[in-house]
Amino acid sequence: PPSPLRAAGPGAAWAGSGAGGLSLLQMAEKTTRGPQDVPSSSPDENEFPVGYPTSICEDVPDQKYLCSNCNNILKKALQTLCGHRYCSACLSWIVRNNKNAVCRRCKDEDPSTVSEESLLAEERAFGDAAINKEISELKIHCGTLGCSWSGTMKNFEEHQSLCEYALIPCHTGCGHMVMRKKLADHLENGCVNNVTTCQKCQQSLSSSEYQEHSCEDNLCKEKHVQTETPPKQKNCSTPLI
Ligand SMILES: [Zn+2]
Ligand SMILES: [Zn+2]
Ligand SMILES: [Zn+2]
Ligand SMILES: [Zn+2]
Ligand SMILES: [Zn+2]
Repeated sequence: PPSPLRAAGPGAAWAGSGAGGLSLLQMAEKTTRGPQDVPSSSPDENEFPVGYPTSICEDVPDQKYLCSNCNNILKKALQTLCGHRYCSACLSWIVRNNKNAVCRRCKDEDPSTVSEESLLAEERAFGDAAINKEISELKIHCGTLGCSWSGTMKNFEEHQSLCEYALIPCHTGCGHMVMRKKLADHLENGCVNNVTTCQKCQQSLSSSEYQEHSCEDNLCKEKHVQTETPPKQKNCSTPLI
């Protein structure tokens, strides 16, 4: 038969003794290790921006600057009751996706010390201003191939938004990723969504083609007529009014 503690649910367990906390932990272990949790046991990097990559640091970063979840440099660091640190986004992802989540670092360091303190909840974590300040002073470089920018972490996001070498999605929605400094060239010559239709001959032209295009005034020039299909060629041979 289920113990009274379990029947009362996790909320009641918290009000109980240390032993109650332990049985809750055991439940948490079962929950977080269930096969259904395996595919989503860590956040997808595309789901939200996790910590900063350690590869951009000039010096090997101290362990205390690393997130207990994503193992990157902490972004908006939170410290939990057990004294470990998580990116703000990592912690909220964990508690959203795991019932009674237990601090992974606690389990890795020494499973025998896992206690109630190791249970993760957003309201049981506080912003770690001291570590965030230290992280903002870390010496870093851009890390994007070709870019020679270097600075401190506090300027990293600003640089990312300006980096000429960063790959960004073309804003027309054409589906291409383009190096920021080549975007103008892409829009002019390669973007399938950045086309202008000539009002006279209905040809779709990239902006550089359009500038060269020779539908002028009321007459189609010879150069242009040659590229037309026969019915339109007929139209073009008749000067417009
Ligand atoms: Zn993280
Ligand atoms: Zn911990
Ligand atoms: Zn850069
Ligand atoms: Zn494009
Ligand atoms: Zn034309």
